[in-house]
Amino acid sequence: MAKMITEECINCGACEADCPNEAISQGDSVYLIDWEKCTECVGHFDSPKCLEVCPVDGVIIPNPAHVESKEQLQAKYAKMN
Ligand code: SF4
Ligand code: SF4
Repeated sequence: MAKMITEECINCGACEADCPNEAISQGDSVYLIDWEKCTECVGHFDSPKCLEVCPVDGVIIPNPAHVESKEQLQAKYAKMN
């Protein structure tokens, strides 16, 4: 299940540089996560890196429009690497 960033984002930019899949970019009002590139960090780290570095709790949440199993995230990772 890819992550997404809510409107509570303060545009600090901390998450962008730390995403191993380059899935995060600056949007018009808040930062955005490209669900096609987000693997929840599967293949790179044990837990989502963006959540670790984001200074605001609850801003980065599961994207309900893109529910994926761990196997699907692993396959997405394999396709990109
Ligand atoms: S969970 Fe990982 S892959 Fe997805 S946006 Fe965050 S840092 Fe990038
Ligand atoms: S780290 Fe959090 S607050 Fe900063 S740009 Fe990313 S989502 Fe927004």
